[in-house]
Amino acid sequence: MKAVVYKGNGEIALEERPLPKMRKQTDAIVEVTLTTICSSDLHIRHGAVPRAVPGVILGHEFVGRVVETGSAVRNVKVNDRVAVNVETFCGECFFCRRGFVNNCSDAEGGWALGCRIDGGQAEYVRIPYADQGLSRIPDNVTDEQALFTGDLLSTGYWAAKMEEIEVGDTVAVIGAGPTGLCAMMTARLYRPGCIAAIDTDRSRLEVALKNGLADVAIDPENEDAEQRIAGLTGGRGADRVIEAAGGANTFEMAWKIARPNAVVGIVAMYEEDQVLPLPQMYGKNLTFRTGGVDACDCAEILRLISEGRLDARCLITHRGELSDIMEAYRVFENREDGVIKWAIRP
Ligand SMILES: [Zn+2]
Ligand SMILES: [Zn+2]
Repeated sequence: MKAVVYKGNGEIALEERPLPKMRKQTDAIVEVTLTTICSSDLHIRHGAVPRAVPGVILGHEFVGRVVETGSAVRNVKVNDRVAVNVETFCGECFFCRRGFVNNCSDAEGGWALGCRIDGGQAEYVRIPYADQGLSRIPDNVTDEQALFTGDLLSTGYWAAKMEEIEVGDTVAVIGAGPTGLCAMMTARLYRPGCIAAIDTDRSRLEVALKNGLADVAIDPENEDAEQRIAGLTGGRGADRVIEAAGGANTFEMAWKIARPNAVVGIVAMYEEDQVLPLPQMYGKNLTFRTGGVDACDCAEILRLISEGRLDARCLITHRGELSDIMEAYRVFENREDGVIKWAIRP
């Protein structure tokens, strides 16, 4: 089968690889029906993810059809259409029992797919702990609607949840890329008074406004984001901030635009260390929440999609085949042609 392989040293390649085989009775084999490229794949390529293993098949955001299950798999069966969770997790360890599945202590737990074990930029993939990692897609939900369930929408859902958004809040989301847009979409479920999208990319801000994901768009190259947010909030600052950009000065912006006692959620994946200047923010009494998604709400996300309350199809700007994925990577990495996300059919 064809698969995108991380070669190490900043290189990836589309190669011929053997079909995956079952290893444990808790595994399933999934035929990938739609996959995509995530900015985390670029971080791996850049060597910014030290635990990524050279030789691994990339891809951690995809949907498919179950073709084989181990005898211990209960929740899915052959031929089920499934959304695949970015994280594999055992469901039984100290962290899993508390919902912190990103830190599952199993050897194949946490974000392993397409990083430490073979992922889904391929025709087939082995999914460990299939009962936890696969969620059946409701009949009225298409592959394109379900594509982002396991990673982007899970991340947005998790970010919005950890922000503890209250009705009427002003929520500032830094970064109107795929993660930021999904964070806005899921933040909306909490009925905030205003969602402000902050990005230097005018076309991405337009996507946020046009699809009703944000109420206000701020381009910090053209106006002072801190002042604009102050103007929207009676001088207080944002009640909740989600930093999903990971740019050179966006961490600083995140705590500066926050009001005293705000929650600042850091979802971005930085490629460099960030500075937390505690003396400058003394007395602001901020709560920072950071980390990688605990992606264990896929069933709930699929239900929201099925009910028409979440719809991430506006992220799909480009469509292609697996054989052309190297060109898709080039377009995605260089942000050409207004690309937000690819939907790629193996
Ligand atoms: Zn990802
Ligand atoms: Zn676990």
